[in-house]
Amino acid sequence: MRLVLLGPPGAGKGTQAYKLSQILAIPQLSTGDMLRAAVAEGTEIGRHAADIMQRGELVPDELVVELIAERIAQSDAARGFILDGFPRTVAQAERLDHVLNGHEIDGVLELKVDEQHLLDRILGRAMQARESGEAVRADDNEEALSVRLTAYANQTKPLTDYYAAKGLLRTVDASQPVDRVTAALVEAIE
Ligand code: ADP
Repeated sequence: MRLVLLGPPGAGKGTQAYKLSQILAIPQLSTGDMLRAAVAEGTEIGRHAADIMQRGELVPDELVVELIAERIAQSDAARGFILDGFPRTVAQAERLDHVLNGHEIDGVLELKVDEQHLLDRILGRAMQARESGEAVRADDNEEALSVRLTAYANQTKPLTDYYAAKGLLRTVDASQPVDRVTAALVEAIE
């Protein structure tokens, strides 16, 4: 099964993608995680992406398409995968169709949460990490978050129309407790 998880920062994409990957036994492919790993390793892509990510802006389409195309070509993704954080622009979605090479996306799951909830979640996550001595994401601060929310509204949200027109979009209320959201997603897939 080939799924896309769509949702604003703080909606719980990472958490839900992980849970779905366990339930469905297919890998979670997160461009955010891949990019953070590239930054940590200091690869060419990472060096290019670091400042852009820190500001909360989207990195160039070519860069993430290259990352995701390589990842999808690996053998563990042959039976399916959950895309977490990709595509994030209509141009990326169009490129994805080529990357899939004849395969199709089976469903697009949109996590919907109101904006105040998102702010509380992300700033709460940053505070918790700080308190427990863990690393705080470089973009989990009020300034970068506001840029991330604007990027979502302007560049990513239009994807809901793109996928709705293809009959693939299912929207789930992601302000519910984690397990309820997972259950709603599983139901939406079935
Ligand atoms: P969130 O959804 O909480 O903002 P992610 O981990 O998905 O977090 O993404 C973090 C950052 O990585 C984004 O703000 C952006 O800079 C970059 N990024 C991740 N995926 C993409 C993508 N598909 N296209 C462009 N930039 C991306």
